[in-house]
Amino acid sequence: MKIDSSKCTGCGECVPYCPAEAIFLRPEEPDHAAIREESCFECGLCRRLDICPVSAFEESEATSSYPRLIRALFSDPNRPHDKTLIPGRGTEESKTNDVTGRIRRNEIGICIEFGRPGIGCTFQDISLMTTRLKRKGVAFCENNPLTTLMDEETGLFPEELNHQRILSSILEIRVATDAFEEVMGEVLEVGKEIDTVFSLGVIGRYGDKGDLPIQGRLERLGITVAPNAKTNFGLGRPLCEE
Ligand code: SF4
Ligand code: SF4
Repeated sequence: MKIDSSKCTGCGECVPYCPAEAIFLRPEEPDHAAIREESCFECGLCRRLDICPVSAFEESEATSSYPRLIRALFSDPNRPHDKTLIPGRGTEESKTNDVTGRIRRNEIGICIEFGRPGIGCTFQDISLMTTRLKRKGVAFCENNPLTTLMDEETGLFPEELNHQRILSSILEIRVATDAFEEVMGEVLEVGKEIDTVFSLGVIGRYGDKGDLPIQGRLERLGITVAPNAKTNFGLGRPLCEE
């Protein structure tokens, strides 16, 4: 994103709206705002909100060129990923598991959402987790934009992406029920080293009696299921009973 300095009056209206705190008034020229290129997520919010009274925000050419384009694909909800065809973080799979049955009865799904709320992350942050989980042999869900970008053997991302900053992204993995505690232990260990925030979601099937077996497993790991946790179930007719 860039600001057309011939239009900008330095009114400062746009500054508080940027989730990356990338917009600032130039100290040497306070009647002009500018964008810290390295901090900008390319989320497009400043332009989309139409807050600038003189329409000074313009998309820069770099926004549409790889590797910077990756920032926009993960951060702008109006840009679909070319492989998942879903915009922004690029996945809806966890919410539709009741219908798709992607996570089977002998499996547990784990979603790791990096960068939210409001901090952002880099691919270097994410690769700390993906490389360690690859070594544990976990399966990365296929229809997910992070999976499509990472090296299948190592879990690393292309080097040119390492320092690209994005608003958020979701890693989705599937583990055998018996391996859940071991993999979660590794996730929590990496959490001590990673340089951003992340939240965890788990996807488990309801038991035959309407019970929730995953809850006991989480509690044994010292993770309490919050009473206001978001639960998605009953969203449609199941396509799979396994
Ligand atoms: S595109 Fe997003 S991150 Fe970049 S300056 Fe605009 S609001 Fe801030
Ligand atoms: S709102 Fe527009 S005119 Fe005002 S500081 Fe931001 S870019 Fe400049």
